[in-house]
Amino acid sequence: MPTVAFLGLGAIGAPMARHLARSDWGLRVWNRTASRAADFAAKYHEHGVTHAPTPADAARGADVVITCFPVSTDVESLLDGPEGLLAGLGRGAILVDCTSGDPTTSKRIAARLAAQGVGYLDAPVSGGVVGAEGGTLTVMIGGDAATIEKVRPVLEAFGKKIVHCGGVGTGDAVKAVNNALLALHLWSTAEGLAALTSAGVDPAIALDVINTSSGRSNASMNLFPERVLNRAFPRTFRLALLDKDVGIAAQVAREQRIASPLLQLTAELYRTAHHALGEEADHVEVVKWVEQLTGTVIEKK
Ligand code: NDP
Repeated sequence: MPTVAFLGLGAIGAPMARHLARSDWGLRVWNRTASRAADFAAKYHEHGVTHAPTPADAARGADVVITCFPVSTDVESLLDGPEGLLAGLGRGAILVDCTSGDPTTSKRIAARLAAQGVGYLDAPVSGGVVGAEGGTLTVMIGGDAATIEKVRPVLEAFGKKIVHCGGVGTGDAVKAVNNALLALHLWSTAEGLAALTSAGVDPAIALDVINTSSGRSNASMNLFPERVLNRAFPRTFRLALLDKDVGIAAQVAREQRIASPLLQLTAELYRTAHHALGEEADHVEVVKWVEQLTGTVIEKK
């Protein structure tokens, strides 16, 4: 049985780590705000979960180290120093970064780890907090196939679909483009429903039509009915993180010198909305920003 460490017990990291805790793999957890990791370890004490005081302590002797932070540079900033990951990671260990990261930083991290005989996979996830709680996430991975096979049983604790996308950085790139599409669908659906609301159509009726027609998306089928029309706007995935993802997708397109006017515009729009709504706003709250711009409220009549 592999020894596993998990670093980053945030909105999605904590429910992912819970599945590993229940697997009785002698999980060690580390979190920047130490009390979160201490509480987590106390709750799963019977399963052998322990709280590591530093990233180095979490990584020492671990076969698989999983990280889940907002951005790749957060992972990079934890590599060095006497308390850093590199001080604890042993030869043959594998770092699986579940951050929705950026390919350039991932490649840099992979090179630094390789110099120490440590494997690296960028392995962002999709499926949201609900998917993390249910253990049904999709894990999209950049790295080599043999390394993926070594960690597959660990990833299967929280992932239902595990996809090898290509070399290091490709998991990040696929995740960023997926989320850019989510961002685009959210914004465009909000604009369309704002126009229809203003023209006197009940948005619930408009969605009833759209969701059996060709304009439907996850935004129209799930997010608007469950979070917007009832004004619930639960906080599950921060707008700040979606802004980051769209920015990565736009950058990937620029680096490939691919014409990408919509990706670049979406990145601009989300940067503005993030600035206006702040760090804690949920991604679906971008609809409130479109409502402000259009002078409408998209709610069930
Ligand atoms: P949160 O903001 O909820 O949690 C972030 C975690 O990272 C916390 O544990 C936080 O610690 C820690 N952290 C933040 N900055 C640093 C730092 N500089 N050094 C060390 N630790 C740090 O984010 P999520 O859990 O929502 O997201 C994590 C990643 O997963 C992101 O890349 C996101 O895009 C992705 N993701 C999120 C989904 C979701 O539905 N939430 C869905 C799919 C992917 P502390 O407790 O101290 O604040």
